[in-house]
Amino acid sequence: MLITHDTECALNTLVELLNTAPEVCGTELLPDVAALDAFVVRQEISEIDSLTEGDLRSVQDLRSRLREVFGTESTAAASELVNSIVAAAGTTPRLINHDHHGWHIHYFAPHAALGDLLAAELGMALAFIFMAGESERLRRCEAPDCARVFVDLSRNRSRRYCDSRTCGNRLHVAAYRARQRSAEAVASA
Ligand SMILES: [Zn+2]
Ligand SMILES: [Zn+2]
Repeated sequence: MLITHDTECALNTLVELLNTAPEVCGTELLPDVAALDAFVVRQEISEIDSLTEGDLRSVQDLRSRLREVFGTESTAAASELVNSIVAAAGTTPRLINHDHHGWHIHYFAPHAALGDLLAAELGMALAFIFMAGESERLRRCEAPDCARVFVDLSRNRSRRYCDSRTCGNRLHVAAYRARQRSAEAVASA
């Protein structure tokens, strides 16, 4: 698999970002600048100064556009979305070493606003996934009442649920109960 550690980190941030949307959680998890600030800290996003309402709106807009990529039917369709997201961000790839991360590339321009930074980094991570022929790893959770997305980085690409500790387990329990019920029905017939 041609997915680097940097791409993996960016994909993780992508998933975390997409899963903050109100259509996923029933409530907006990035409702204000303080929440966005906490997101930046949690995701260890570097080179960001103080955030504004404008940053919040542009990140929310970007989030909707990135989510569309998960629903595309073909790589050609996805590439149009990804290319326009990355192009709008005004990328300037730079080889850089900071905070003991080792040498890696920042795709965003120096002093880019958070929306542009994320568009460049997350857009490029998506581009790498498609280039590697691994786009089927971009998944929507199969639990019927769950709208979360995830990236399946398991070796055999077998993950079906966003988080096996919640959605996966919940469904296993439901399936187990259904089997028990039908067994009881057979026994009492
Ligand atoms: Zn970095
Ligand atoms: Zn789920």
